[in-house]
Amino acid sequence: MEEVITSIARYLIIKRLSNDVVALLAVKEYLIDGEPPSVIAFKYKISKFKVRGYIQRVIDKAGNYRVAVKVVESLYPYIMSIEPIMLRSGSRMICTICNTYVRINEDEQHIRKKHKDLLNELIRSMVARLKH
Ligand SMILES: [Zn+2]
Repeated sequence: MEEVITSIARYLIIKRLSNDVVALLAVKEYLIDGEPPSVIAFKYKISKFKVRGYIQRVIDKAGNYRVAVKVVESLYPYIMSIEPIMLRSGSRMICTICNTYVRINEDEQHIRKKHKDLLNELIRSMVARLKH
């Protein structure tokens, strides 16, 4: 179970650090609020395919739907309390930790490569908090 939580936490924390609010809302509104993907897609003006992609990633990590719901319910408040580090700046993103500009699709890669310690620390403390 700890591996499942760690892997879902990693996915959601990267989305949060990169300020991908829509991905987080899509996962939350589907798994916790029970909204259909078509409603979520319409609301945030993204494709249904994309919404299903975000949701599927979490369910695959969880192994099944029921576990995904449980884990996302317990992680979500912690995830949202994290301060994003990526900020949209014109046609690029700027990392507020190292003041580096990155391409929009390379923000998650930047976090995974350059801020691995921060990422691991956030995951570690989140998993530890859930145990208590
Ligand atoms: Zn950076």
